[in-house]
Amino acid sequence: MRKKIVAGNWKMNTNLQEGIKLAKAINEKLTTKNCDCGTTGVVIAPPFSHLYAINEVIDSDKICLTAQNCAAEEKGAYTGEISAEMLKSIGVKAVILGHSERRAYYGEISETLLKKVKLVQKNGMKPIFCCGEKLEEREAGNHFKIVENQIKEVLFELSAKDFENSIIAYEPVWAIGTGVTASAEQAQEIHAFIRKIVADKFGQELAEKKTILYGGSCKPSNAKELFAQKDIDGGLIGGASLKADDFFGIIEAI
Ligand code: PEP
Repeated sequence: MRKKIVAGNWKMNTNLQEGIKLAKAINEKLTTKNCDCGTTGVVIAPPFSHLYAINEVIDSDKICLTAQNCAAEEKGAYTGEISAEMLKSIGVKAVILGHSERRAYYGEISETLLKKVKLVQKNGMKPIFCCGEKLEEREAGNHFKIVENQIKEVLFELSAKDFENSIIAYEPVWAIGTGVTASAEQAQEIHAFIRKIVADKFGQELAEKKTILYGGSCKPSNAKELFAQKDIDGGLIGGASLKADDFFGIIEAI
């Protein structure tokens, strides 16, 4: 059976005190011990500045502490960067990579992302790799190709063993933070496509095991329908992960 995951991407929201309060609230609501980042799991990705303190107030067997990014280099003269090893040393278990906001505003390309994925894995953490098309790409009917290339250029460069240690998040850019959600059918269609290209590359058995999350205006009211789809194994949640009740509502949907 595939592992289900609900992951909250806080982006650049909350100050430290608010972040600790939110993390504590989520931690208190969770009764099931269910985090290992690769099995059924609840993931939170607070800003870098909060990670150490939040690690102190959550139960690591309930919540998988995740970062939103890391450096593409191992160490050295890269002012302002945070390395994968630094994250590992403060208890981080997974790292979101390739989010569309990083691709759009910080010019992240596949070459950089592959370096980051490798560093994350080298440090024993799991990459949560985001892919997804822009509205104009979907309207032109190019969404399958775009998503395929994003995955091919990064995750398909890994060995089967390393690929297995990754999570894919499909996030159509037009649905992120817009309130517009992909319909359950649209999401299922592309998730099934992703699973097929994984099967073509690494075999059916691995494809069946791969966790593929949906992201884009997912909320308690639509999560159930999305998660009921055969190839959708949970969600990467932005806005709705900033309120403990909403985030918990989505966790309950899974
Ligand atoms: C995201 O940024 O990963 C995301 C899915 O955001 P939202 O849920 O706010 O659309």
